[in-house]
Amino acid sequence: MLIVQKYGGTSVGDLDKIQNVADKVSKTKNANNSVVVVVSAMSGETNKLISYAHHFSKNPQKREFDLLVSSGERVTASLLAIALGQMGHKTVALTGRQAGIYTDDVHTSARINKIDRTKIESHLSENKIVIVAGFQGITSSGDISTLGRGGSDLTAVAIAGAIEANLCEIYTDVDGIYTTDPRIEPKARKIEKISYEEMLELASLGAKVLQNRSVELAKKLNINLVTRNSFNNNEGTLITKEDNIMEKPLVSGIALDKDQARVTLRGVKDEPGIAAKIFTTLSDKNINVDMIIQNIGHDGTTNLGFTVVQKDISKTKKIIKKLHPSEVMEFDDKIVKVSVVGVGMKSHSGVASQAFSALSNKKINIQMISTSEIKISMVISQKWGEKAVKALHKAYKLDK
Ligand code: ADP
Ligand code: ASP
Ligand code: MG
Repeated sequence: MLIVQKYGGTSVGDLDKIQNVADKVSKTKNANNSVVVVVSAMSGETNKLISYAHHFSKNPQKREFDLLVSSGERVTASLLAIALGQMGHKTVALTGRQAGIYTDDVHTSARINKIDRTKIESHLSENKIVIVAGFQGITSSGDISTLGRGGSDLTAVAIAGAIEANLCEIYTDVDGIYTTDPRIEPKARKIEKISYEEMLELASLGAKVLQNRSVELAKKLNINLVTRNSFNNNEGTLITKEDNIMEKPLVSGIALDKDQARVTLRGVKDEPGIAAKIFTTLSDKNINVDMIIQNIGHDGTTNLGFTVVQKDISKTKKIIKKLHPSEVMEFDDKIVKVSVVGVGMKSHSGVASQAFSALSNKKINIQMISTSEIKISMVISQKWGEKAVKALHKAYKLDK
């Protein structure tokens, strides 16, 4: 079989753990497989490099920033190749460029345009274990780009698609995808199979176990992804097409997103085109807006509320001030978004009201609500985040 394995930051967090990964890769190779391994930086390394950049500048040049943060993955790729070489394997460690990963020019969150599969394939044909530094590629001008936080997941999925691998395994520090973050709720259960759609919602709504763009690509390319634990041999979770899942639970999981801020604009002119202008300008500047609420107007003005990710607060402030200097603008970053996700919602009513009751029973006030076919999201005060996750987990009978 042709297998792509990705090992996350905690799995390569120190030299003993890199040896553990080398042992696992060696076993896979010795079982007569061709193996491509994608690695993250050692855990904490990327954050450390980012903090170094911010020591000198709040707004470092993006090209240099990418050059800096891509280095963590090169360290682990080379070390793993050296460890495997010592064990008698033929190996080659590659940067994104050497692996033929071409991206657009959007530094810090580049999209992969193309993978030149001949580079990896020629190494595989020489019976080598190919080790690729995750999270990075090369722009059309030859500069190093990075793929957004958690981007090594995307590297793995994209390579699996390009070389038509039989299997793409994402190794991490938990046994698979759980009904919620097992660090928040120890009663969370491991899910055997989950649909791309649900996983995409969970990942986009705060479940950091997989990068949302990697799930999007896996769905597009129809790649069966398996997440599993690098520290044991337990069965993981299969992420696959909804059709491949016989039993469809009403609710599959609960996600918590702590990275949100609420913006309130008071005294917005209540006339056609105002919302269009505000939100078009924000989206043109790559600011993702979610959960919009507009009140019924009085005296020709209204209030407008929406959420953005915390890193976009200062950018949002600047843009709104320019557009509407007279309006009162408030920011609250002491909020979180808690979400209930499940394909079963498509065909059942009453799922949302169950969520509202579960929170009200715990005296948790809901500030904003948004729903889609397979999810319900609620903004609440930060201090109730974990309590809300547990209450919802119990209400939908997800506790083990
Ligand atoms: P890696 O370093 O391997 O990329 P991450 O830290 O990115 O690992 O993701 C793994 C973590 O995701 C777990 O330790 C867990 O705390 C968290 N997590 C959040 N939601 C979930 C979920 N629904 N199922 C499993 N893990 C989750
Ligand atoms: N090291 C990068 C990050 O921490 C990419 C990854 O681990 O997937 O975001
Ligand atoms: Mg990750």
